[in-house]
Amino acid sequence: MALSARRLWRGSAASDGSSEPLTGTIANLTATVESASSVRLEWEYSGDDGVAFRLTRDGVVVYEGDGLSFVDTGLNAGTTYTYEIVGEFGTGDVTNTVSESVTVEDPNPGDIEWYVDIDYTGAKRPARIDERITVLDAPFDRGISSLKVVNPCKIYAYTGQNFSDAVIILTASEKNIGHRYYYDNQIWNDAIRSYEVRPTGWKWPKVNNQVSYNLSNGESVPVLAGSEHFSNCNVHDVAVDVRDQSTYNTFKGIISDNRRSVIFEQLSRDVCSVLFHNPDDVPYRIHDIHLQFENTPGTITVVRGEYPRLILRPGAMSAVASYLTAGLVRLYQHYLYAYQATNITNGVSSGFIDYVRIEMGIYDSSDRPDGGGSPWYAGNKTTAFFFDYIQNHAPTPSPNFIKDLHATFDVRNPDIGGKAWDKRAIQACNERGIDVDNLWREYKLWAYKQDGYDVVFYNGKEYYGDSFGIRHGDASNLIAAPFREAVRSVRVINPSKVYMFSQKNQAGAVMFTKKSIPDMYVPHFWRDEAWTAWAYRVMSFRVRPLSWSWPKINNQSNIRMNDGSVTKVKGGSNLYDVVTLRANPPVDVDDTTVHNQVKAIMADHMLKKHFDQASRNACAILHDHADEVDARHYTVKAWYNSNGNIGALYASKLHSYVAFTPNAMTYRGRLASVIAHEFVHLYQAAPSNYSSNVSVTAVVEGIADYATIVMNMPVNPRPAGGGERWNDGYATTAYFFYYITHQAPVKSPNFVKDLNRQLDPRYNNGRTWSAVYITEINARHMSVEALWREYKAWL
Ligand SMILES: [Zn+2]
Repeated sequence: MALSARRLWRGSAASDGSSEPLTGTIANLTATVESASSVRLEWEYSGDDGVAFRLTRDGVVVYEGDGLSFVDTGLNAGTTYTYEIVGEFGTGDVTNTVSESVTVEDPNPGDIEWYVDIDYTGAKRPARIDERITVLDAPFDRGISSLKVVNPCKIYAYTGQNFSDAVIILTASEKNIGHRYYYDNQIWNDAIRSYEVRPTGWKWPKVNNQVSYNLSNGESVPVLAGSEHFSNCNVHDVAVDVRDQSTYNTFKGIISDNRRSVIFEQLSRDVCSVLFHNPDDVPYRIHDIHLQFENTPGTITVVRGEYPRLILRPGAMSAVASYLTAGLVRLYQHYLYAYQATNITNGVSSGFIDYVRIEMGIYDSSDRPDGGGSPWYAGNKTTAFFFDYIQNHAPTPSPNFIKDLHATFDVRNPDIGGKAWDKRAIQACNERGIDVDNLWREYKLWAYKQDGYDVVFYNGKEYYGDSFGIRHGDASNLIAAPFREAVRSVRVINPSKVYMFSQKNQAGAVMFTKKSIPDMYVPHFWRDEAWTAWAYRVMSFRVRPLSWSWPKINNQSNIRMNDGSVTKVKGGSNLYDVVTLRANPPVDVDDTTVHNQVKAIMADHMLKKHFDQASRNACAILHDHADEVDARHYTVKAWYNSNGNIGALYASKLHSYVAFTPNAMTYRGRLASVIAHEFVHLYQAAPSNYSSNVSVTAVVEGIADYATIVMNMPVNPRPAGGGERWNDGYATTAYFFYYITHQAPVKSPNFVKDLNRQLDPRYNNGRTWSAVYITEINARHMSVEALWREYKAWL
């Protein structure tokens, strides 16, 4: 060009032959970057003809000629060049000189820029949409640290070359991607081996013509809905490392070598379609899977990383599809930071594995742990079937629950990275926003129903805490921790009678219920305030159908004593087997004299017979039905001492003993009568205001003496004129009650039973008893004062 331009140099003489200087002016030299290596230069000229321009770049001539533009090529991006132009005539005259500097920058630097260092510093490498880069040269080969997104796009960065293995997907600029972890604490920016850039709307291609595969052992690899979207999970090849020929031969008999890849691909797609919303969510793609066959004990081990392996052992051959599924879930699923490996996160993680098995039909409802298992984060099937309930069976199913919850394990999510995983994620991922503990309670009840349980017990009130279910006819003679002495609430699923006992072996005080009770701590059937809480007393239980009744006692007979008195059989007492003592009463002798006196009348070996009959008699007088008896006694201890100075015997539901004192031998004359009186105390309602309310005391003692009257046993005689006040207790009150039940113009045969029920916290709804309530339970609804006046007049 320079030579050709040189020929343009020519002279131009003035018309008059004189030598006038030729002139011209160059203006507006512009330098425009056209590419990363070229600059377009343009200029304007006015003046005499015959000019030739000479353009230099940093002093080097790049153009000579009479044109008004030039494209300078072969330049280096990032470099500043200075151009200078001058026009020259053949006469040697010259124009003005104009210069211009320009820095060459790529006008289209790329859609993203990778940087070696964080904060967009250090070496930079651009890439464009649809560019795929398989080899990262130094200094990028192990050190991409930050990313700048110039134009909207998706960036897939892989830990393997050829777009394989783990992938991180980015759509926004990020100053330091090194803080991201994907598993095993590996830092991302040290792991990226290749990447590709795609438009934001780009999607992985679908897989067509999927088919389920039948394995030779009868199992099948299914095709799950949506799995065709997960072509990125295709396994391109399956390498085999045979360390045990026998295991390998067994495997080949189930999945032949030439079928391995297609089956692994379908399993991979199935697994991912359960765990992920879309292919971009899959953090870990597998180019090759390495199968290793060993003969060591166990089933399958999974190794993630740049050399993903499934190590198969003989145990895995029994259910190959199931174990391969579990292994592939472990390869593809999200893992939390290592420091977050808690019992709960481990349980959730293994729950994902078995949930996939449920979705794939490998597990069905028969695999659900009995009653749902416990606790919810126990992992595996326990957690998986809980998740299955939330997703598919709850009153409002949460069809995206598993995918949403699994995404909370994705450390790529900036809302999650660096934060400890919290079980509140479960609350956020279910449609109703219920926290996991309440979901678990709901699920457990559902599972108990599914498994045919009739009643559920809880160790917390309001059906909280640990639980266990039992069925009609089931009995437990010993409640294990955490329920021992801590059953707090009961839920009745199917109509049942529930008997809960204060002793092991279904003995002792019994609480009976036919309905759910949210807090059994509240009911208190004990006079002793220190023992008002049932929850801490339940030691065994039994659940019966609603139609169940206590067995009757047959062949009852009167029992005679050496002093000629008789423990009689009260009508209806054969219905009260519930109160039959299970063991002979132990004897505690503090006073030998008293013991000898009693033994002479009632030998030690006869105590149980007498006590059994006295118990049944007392209950026949106090209760309409055996279920109303609130206290059973495994044994009633006989205690002989000389300290008693008030009662002949002392009875307590809590301690289940009767104390024989010297007075027992004389007071009211006869031992049988005294035993009858005291055994009424063992089984009657015992309100807490017994000793503080005169009328309550009178009723309790009056009913006890009433029992001896109706049994025609020796009893203190009726006071003259019936006594002074109806509530003087004992014989005074007892004969008054006898009048109401047996002698009044209109008799009230159920009066004493109704009165006892009025004092029973199980029936009175917390109402503090008052004598005015006697009006409710006599046949003519008379006040107790009116009845007393009528009784006195009758006398
Ligand atoms: Zn008494």
